Amino acid sequence: MHQYPDALSVVRALSPEEPVILNRPHAAARAARFFAEKFPGKSLYAVKANPSPDLLKVLWGAGVTHYDVASIAEVRLVRSVLPEAVLCFMHPVKSKGAIAEAYKVHGVRVFSLDSHEELAKIVEATDGATDLSLCVRLRVSSEFSELSLAAKFGIDLADAAPLLQATRQVADALGVCFHVGSQAMTPFAYVTAIERVRAAIVDAAVTVDIIDVGGGFPSIYPGMEPPPLEDYFGAIDRAAESLPVSYSSELWCEPGRALCAEYSSLVVKVEKGRGEELYINDGAYGALYDAAHVGWRFPVRCLTEGRSDVLTAFSFYGPTCDDADFMEGPFQLPADIQAGDYIEVGMLGAYGAAMKTAFNGFGQAEAIEVSDEPMASQYTGERQDPRAKDNVVSLR
Ligand SMILES: *Cc1c(COP(=O)(O)O)cnc(C)c1O
Repeated sequence: MHQYPDALSVVRALSPEEPVILNRPHAAARAARFFAEKFPGKSLYAVKANPSPDLLKVLWGAGVTHYDVASIAEVRLVRSVLPEAVLCFMHPVKSKGAIAEAYKVHGVRVFSLDSHEELAKIVEATDGATDLSLCVRLRVSSEFSELSLAAKFGIDLADAAPLLQATRQVADALGVCFHVGSQAMTPFAYVTAIERVRAAIVDAAVTVDIIDVGGGFPSIYPGMEPPPLEDYFGAIDRAAESLPVSYSSELWCEPGRALCAEYSSLVVKVEKGRGEELYINDGAYGALYDAAHVGWRFPVRCLTEGRSDVLTAFSFYGPTCDDADFMEGPFQLPADIQAGDYIEVGMLGAYGAAMKTAFNGFGQAEAIEVSDEPMASQYTGERQDPRAKDNVVSLR
């Protein structure tokens, strides 16, 4: 793969007609090392955030040995790319065929569940295996997160005790897992969820071997500046230490977004301008799914030189014929940006590059490696600690 220093040099060299994905392996490796070194337990990469084989190899090389997979296709993919990886099948609703293939063909021993039906399915599909690690998914609040994962999965605390007890009977290792929702904006999200885990454990009076705090670790986007990840790790560590099973249990997490958001950005071309709306060549059915469907704001910069320093708030239309292919933004760009100009959209490594479809004939995008820094980083230590604002002592 050809390597360029940055987006500007890509545009100068190629004047690309199609969107181009720019990958920054050094940024993903830095995130992976951060989790491997600083999270007080084991970090599983949640593959759905970005299943690119190139990225999987980067994470493996930087010390991520465990992978949270959610479908049999993800199991096969990660097994083929990383033959020695530990795979954890963490979707609480699986087909029997998927469980059997994962167990018998791909060596998967860790499964999650949130119902007695799923437990029976796992036992049957593995022929009553006695070497399973089974994680019961508890429903927790998503109130501190930008994207909820609370409605669909997880058993209610009130119903958890019988399921924990039944799972304990067949599991070699018993875990409790949850997901606080994606882009959790405060460490408190995990503290309250761990309090619910405590109640479930006490209620069921079982020993637990794994506490899995799931994903939800944030990245940095316009208008969404979370506290440093060290604060999350510290709060999780303290909350988990205070559980009645802390002396015997392992702590796990399942970061998706936080490990790969900084990995990719996207170069798009402006095809047309109409007032404060720009028609660009990627959108709702491409890498900008979240920008369209949940109004996510991504950082942008104009790659055409000589444009005005005065910025205007723009919205984007994507290339398909569908009115839903619209991204409200606001995206701050030079007031005189025009057709033929290029824009770099940053922080698209998570749930961006992975979401591209071929709807309406659009969806091709070349991937190119670049070596500059992502538009924002949780891992460079240059960010001001937001807590400092609360602690300022005036010298005057
Ligand atoms: C999506 C998902 C993750 C990753 O979530 P992020 O918010 O991207 O960190 C982790 N675990 C499970 C079970 C998931 O469904």
